[in-house]
Amino acid sequence: MINAATIHVRNLAIRYSLLLICAAVAAPNIVHAHGTAQTPNQLGNRAITFPDTETYQTLVVDLHTHSVFSDGHVWPKIRVDEALKDGLDGLAITEHLEYQPHRADLLNPDRNKAYTEAASAAEGSDLLVIRGSEITREAPAGHINAIFIEDANKLINAENPPEDLTDVLGFYTAANQWPAQKAVEAAHSQGAFIFWNHPYWTRQSPDGIARITDFHADNAKNGILHGIEIANGNTYSEEAFAIALAHDLALIGVSDVHDLIDWDYKPHEGGHRPVTLVLAEDKSLAALKEALFAKRTVVWFRNTLIGRAPELIPVLQASLEISALSYRKDTSVAQVTLTNKSDMTMQLRYTGEHSLMLSADRITVPAHGEVEVQVKPGAVVPTLELPFVVENALTAPKQNPTLTLVSKR
Ligand SMILES: [Zn+2]
Ligand SMILES: [Zn+2]
Repeated sequence: MINAATIHVRNLAIRYSLLLICAAVAAPNIVHAHGTAQTPNQLGNRAITFPDTETYQTLVVDLHTHSVFSDGHVWPKIRVDEALKDGLDGLAITEHLEYQPHRADLLNPDRNKAYTEAASAAEGSDLLVIRGSEITREAPAGHINAIFIEDANKLINAENPPEDLTDVLGFYTAANQWPAQKAVEAAHSQGAFIFWNHPYWTRQSPDGIARITDFHADNAKNGILHGIEIANGNTYSEEAFAIALAHDLALIGVSDVHDLIDWDYKPHEGGHRPVTLVLAEDKSLAALKEALFAKRTVVWFRNTLIGRAPELIPVLQASLEISALSYRKDTSVAQVTLTNKSDMTMQLRYTGEHSLMLSADRITVPAHGEVEVQVKPGAVVPTLELPFVVENALTAPKQNPTLTLVSKR
């Protein structure tokens, strides 16, 4: 149980921490929610860009954000505007059902309100707005997102809530009496895709290490829990990644933004929010949902791509192109150009048998840039295979994938 003094201490702790995960406290920033969020796009296009794979469309989605309808500080329309600026294909605003710090000002009996506001703001655009909620409990259940739900109102059951609307803790406590299991089962009965949020959150796991619990293991086994955040805001969890692999959960990366994307990630300086790349049959809510249940996801966090090999390798292959093979005049020194069609600056380590001319074994291919590579096979050959370890991609904790590019004359 939380008391007011604890809340105060937590508020201070979070205020002075740069790690803002699902702040279950009021943040100190004063924002005029109905004003215009100034987001000058000084560097031009800030859209998060990864190419489609041979088989699938690569959808860029943020499945965990907040607005004023729980503890966020912006109106849902601003989330939609940010998503459009970031070139997202899909967005979910997932309000805390039980933690409602603005309820004295914004009491709305319909918990779908953030969704309907966002869906209306997105009309006329091709942004997919996904209905979702954050089920908010203390450990061990912790925080759980349910998306592709039908009705958020059925995921909360606060009996005898306090009459005083400013009694935020009282409402939270009343709502927490309803077991987390009932809430996830209610979401499951709506066909929801359900994932475990920030399982390493230091407020619920003080050493910052994610550990599987019976609650999560049982729900994963029973097909009720489908995914797990391995990246949330500024944080990444190798342990959550290991849990995902051990319990067959989809890998999810989210912003969990409460304030402004521009403040938290500085896209005008080249930053970006963490997102999930979803390999979908097409760009539609149905295809997105199908792909999530099929766990066809890759997480884009800082300058790292994280995914299982069957999803990650095709994204890397689509991102990195190799030119036709040519030779320097009157020599057997081969030259090829590597072209990067993605947002990730590729950090490659060459592991081939022939030595290189322009570098030792490290090659960096800038995002949306290219580099020339010269190789010395010792003779003019018609085909050259160049194997690389992609050092800023992960297929398992501490495991980098290998990508072999083939160039022909
Ligand atoms: Zn949370
Ligand atoms: Zn959250």
